[in-house]
Amino acid sequence: MTTPETASPAAFGDAQSIANDVSSGTRTAASVVANHLDRIATHDGEVHAFNVVTAERAMDAAESIDQRIAAGEDVGPLAGVPVAVKDNMCTRGVATTCSSKILEGWEPPYTATVVERLTNAGAIVVGKTNLDEFAMGSSTENSAFGPTHNPWDLDKVPGGSSGGSAAAVAAGFAPVSLGSDTGGSIRQPASLCGVVGVKPTYGAVSRYGLIAFGSSLDQIGPFTTTVADSATMFEVMGGHDPLDSTSANQPALAVSSKLDAGVDGLRVGIITEMAGDVIEGIDADVIARLRAAATALEAGGATVGEVSIPSSVYGLPAYYMVAPAEASSNLARFDGVRYGLRVDGANTALMNTASRTGGFGPEVKRRIMLGTYALSAGYRDAFYGKAQQIRTKIIEEFTAAYEHFDVLLSPASPSTAFALGDKAADPMAMYLNDVCTIPSNLSGQPSMSVPFGVGDDGMPIGVQILAPLMGDVVMFQVAAELERVANATNEAGA
Ligand code: GLN
Repeated sequence: MTTPETASPAAFGDAQSIANDVSSGTRTAASVVANHLDRIATHDGEVHAFNVVTAERAMDAAESIDQRIAAGEDVGPLAGVPVAVKDNMCTRGVATTCSSKILEGWEPPYTATVVERLTNAGAIVVGKTNLDEFAMGSSTENSAFGPTHNPWDLDKVPGGSSGGSAAAVAAGFAPVSLGSDTGGSIRQPASLCGVVGVKPTYGAVSRYGLIAFGSSLDQIGPFTTTVADSATMFEVMGGHDPLDSTSANQPALAVSSKLDAGVDGLRVGIITEMAGDVIEGIDADVIARLRAAATALEAGGATVGEVSIPSSVYGLPAYYMVAPAEASSNLARFDGVRYGLRVDGANTALMNTASRTGGFGPEVKRRIMLGTYALSAGYRDAFYGKAQQIRTKIIEEFTAAYEHFDVLLSPASPSTAFALGDKAADPMAMYLNDVCTIPSNLSGQPSMSVPFGVGDDGMPIGVQILAPLMGDVVMFQVAAELERVANATNEAGA
């Protein structure tokens, strides 16, 4: 397969090399940002990774960074690094839409902690990226502003819901970006776009300023082209935030501390249900890459076994009760009064209804109805309550597995990128994309996708690494090993 011009991860270097160059004066932040803005101007018409490109603000920020560096200041580990931000994170003075009509014209009065921390470390926001409306979806086709295209094949989806952020990195529009992951929305698009995507432990990274979808599941994390860049992003963003009551009261995890440690002596468990015929619909080429990853870790000195998480097969139905239930409550605030769109009605109730009817797209409405039903009197125990029981079972089974294994391994997505339009009309087919990623949202445990070769169609495949709560360091350690093997294989094949 020939690589289209739209795919060029790290077109102007990865974050580490940009930060090194900019801090040492080899390149200016202004030139780095200008390069990326040019690339966006040339190719985003085809990819549509961005809802808005903040070119002027980015150039102003770059110039101020260059001045500080000229004055001898240390501007931080992300000096001059362009970052694309998923458009469900608040940015003061820049519209935040969640790719929904209902937020039309709304500008947040404050900025998400993650964005503050990245810019305080020298990063420069170049724009807000497209997503499935309110992060509900797996293909970025549920956006009110039209779909994002996969930079490796423009006829295919980038995955979702953070498809714009994954595509932005794969296209070389920014070396790093931010996504949010409620059921897989960082890891699945990372897999489909051939980039690294991390869902940190629940509570390890602040969610202040992330527009809530499923509050007990949502996490923010990075997309990057290298494991080391994800580690830097994580360390810059992580650590306690008094503005987020679910933020863990501890410093950022030192996820870059063991990137060079190798995997000798580590115990790796392949999740049985996701490696064969228990969960149906996982493609053979995806399983082959999972097995190859396990073999590579074994060659590095790890012991590899299989472990069953029996309740993981119920993860999908449990998630599709819990997430919509929480969404139905979180999205109640969009009422035509406090934010964005208002459609007039004869009285307040009719105005509320008209605004919500006109503002939300079909998938969001489906989730609100499903969630409201799951929580309604008489049904709550049968649906929401049962889902919570499954959630507890999954947590118990993971905890037992981690008595014998340091990390677990599974596919990130059951298939490579599928064609635009293929699953858009079939919600069940779309939901099945999350079958491997959902369990660690339900458990709160960290997980990430690392590119590990390609499928039969030549499209990228990611392997998912899972670790126990606050076990993000060992997860990164294993990811770095897989990256080394993947790079060595690519070079050998090139
Ligand atoms: N695809 C899943 C959903 O539609 C997960 C979305 C997400 O992680 N935000 O709910």
